[in-house]
Amino acid sequence: MFARYDYIIIGGGTSGCALAATLSQNASVLVLERGGSPYDNPSATDIGNFANTLSNISPKSWSQLFVSEDGVYNTRARVLGGGSVLNAGFYTRAGDEYVKEVEWNSDEVEAAYEWVEKKVAFQPPMLGWQSAFKDGLLEAGEFPYNGFTYDHIFGTKVGGTIFDRAGHRHTAANLLEYANPNTVAVYLHASVHKILFTTKGKPRPKAYGVIFQDANGVLHKVELAKNAMNEVILSAGAIGSPQLLMLSGVGPMAHLAAHGINPVVLDHPMVGQGMGDNPMNAIFIPSPSPVEVSLIQAVAITKFDSYIEGASGVIFSYSWTRHYLDGVLNYLNEMETSRTTATTTTSTQLSTQSITDFFKSFDPLLNATTKAGIILQKVAGPVSRGHLELRNTNPNDNPSVRFNYYQDPEDLEKCVEGITTITKVINSKAFSKFKYPDATVHGLLDLMLSVPTNLRPRHITSVFDLKQFCIDTVMTIWHYHGGCQVGRVVDKNYKVLGIDSLRVIDGSTFLKSPGTNPQATVMMLGRPTQAQQEDLEPTKRLPRKPVNCHPSYSGRRKDELQLDQGPGRHCEERRSQRRSPSNPVWSEITGIVSCTWRDTRRWIVADSGAIKGA
Ligand SMILES: Cc1cc2nc3c(=O)[nH]c(=O)nc-3n(C[C@H](O)[C@H](O)[C@H](O)COP(=O)(O)OP(=O)(O)OC[C@H]3O[C@@H](n4cnc5c(N)ncnc54)[C@H](O)[C@@H]3O)c2cc1C
Repeated sequence: MFARYDYIIIGGGTSGCALAATLSQNASVLVLERGGSPYDNPSATDIGNFANTLSNISPKSWSQLFVSEDGVYNTRARVLGGGSVLNAGFYTRAGDEYVKEVEWNSDEVEAAYEWVEKKVAFQPPMLGWQSAFKDGLLEAGEFPYNGFTYDHIFGTKVGGTIFDRAGHRHTAANLLEYANPNTVAVYLHASVHKILFTTKGKPRPKAYGVIFQDANGVLHKVELAKNAMNEVILSAGAIGSPQLLMLSGVGPMAHLAAHGINPVVLDHPMVGQGMGDNPMNAIFIPSPSPVEVSLIQAVAITKFDSYIEGASGVIFSYSWTRHYLDGVLNYLNEMETSRTTATTTTSTQLSTQSITDFFKSFDPLLNATTKAGIILQKVAGPVSRGHLELRNTNPNDNPSVRFNYYQDPEDLEKCVEGITTITKVINSKAFSKFKYPDATVHGLLDLMLSVPTNLRPRHITSVFDLKQFCIDTVMTIWHYHGGCQVGRVVDKNYKVLGIDSLRVIDGSTFLKSPGTNPQATVMMLGRPTQAQQEDLEPTKRLPRKPVNCHPSYSGRRKDELQLDQGPGRHCEERRSQRRSPSNPVWSEITGIVSCTWRDTRRWIVADSGAIKGA
């Protein structure tokens, strides 16, 4: 067994990294991340590789495909830094109304955003296509123009981005530069299988540790240090957190029993409920003029609760489209196989006709279409809600998720207004340079309907009926949330209701998606508010004595330490290395943290006792 920690954070994603950096100031922290390091392949996170990296859905890649029961492709991050390593980079805060509604202290929220922004947020360049798009939004009536701001205010604005001017991405993993390297340990390829609870002598279950599997398939157990204040914190994201709660015996009793989960630690009917994914519909616009490579920069925050965003120059090549859709087909086949062999099933059979039709008409000679832009609308909220259930008991597999896009007519109305605004932008004078003169809106809608953006049926009426167009071509903007919502699964301080020493801090706690895009707020969640801090009581902790190289030395026996001398020396050597100044990400990382990232397997294999049959 490893040394014991004050906090064990499950998931080194967008919120997990921020949280580890914060908590390590006064306590020992272990982060267990199932994926690898984004620093292993830094160019993969550059702006020009957005589509390639996202569409690499091979088994160990950073992007894990899942297909919701609605027939919409979706992605989960599987890498240190989580969604911030894969995302489109737009950085924008939650609105004042949101902060008020969730009863956060606005001064603390402001300070927390600033902490995040110092490391990861930049002003985007706003070149030709994005400027024309922004002017088109104003021509379409999306006033006032608010200039460059991180704030969420009605009208058109230029928001932040986590890409610097050289196109390099700065992710939540960069927030670990704030961490106290003496007290934080980050294990990669460490997939948590279960949270451990004790009820011995306790009025209610208390989390005391976790079981995780390393890259070699060996299971390990790690426990909290003995202190009533210590906690396991679940930051595995909106799919991973409810899934892991259920796998650990916390969830709807009948559902857990049906999957043979024993013991059921707590019957918690709301775990996995309230899943929301903001529907996105987009229009692809081939351009006669060259366009810059841009992800989201300008946005309209409309009064009718749809956000209009745009991107340009993203490469759509035959080979990666083929590769991605083949991956989708394989995934569906595997789902179908497990569905027919499983005793319980939640899976819907989805039609792949749209993919088959697409391949029939798709030109293999088409190599890349960089001269194009996409304008999209995202429905705020949303009102429509779904749920998450286990498919099986393997934590590495996706659970079954249904979001029920556009089930509520209110969401559908917002989409129609959003698409109507997009058509005004496309037809605006300001945007005319980036649209072929003979391209009509109907033609562009028809083009979208021919692309297998999802696995839903297409209706011939969709070109003329915008409601049907929204339903047929719905996609995700990857802002899914819920499953462990505040007030339903966790309290206002993110503690799991009915359980001690366990919190959930990530996007799964949201009742609705914050801001136009959520990542700023997800990172901000990693800075506990005053009330939560008092609850976490870091100030009551004595600062840890600096430990040798690796934090897991603290509290360990001498004979165990002997085992670490090799990697320890390795750390010392690496600490003195500075990465290439041309790569700002590398140059700022402290040796200790990076050595833990890089040597995870050696640490685990060298000094832990495997736990069999856990
Ligand atoms: C393609 C894409 C584009 C997006 N575009 C934007 C954008 O432009 N702007 C914006 O604001 N937001 C965007 N988002 C959304 C944003 O990135 C997410 O909302 C946010 O990253 C979610 O953070 P999280 O901490 O809740 O989860 P994540 O960041 O997903 O972190 C969860 C972490 O937990 C790990 N994990 C899961 N299960 C386990 C386990 N059992 N054991 C160990 N580790 C585990 C995962 O590997 C992951 O690293 C986008 C997302 C995607 C995927």
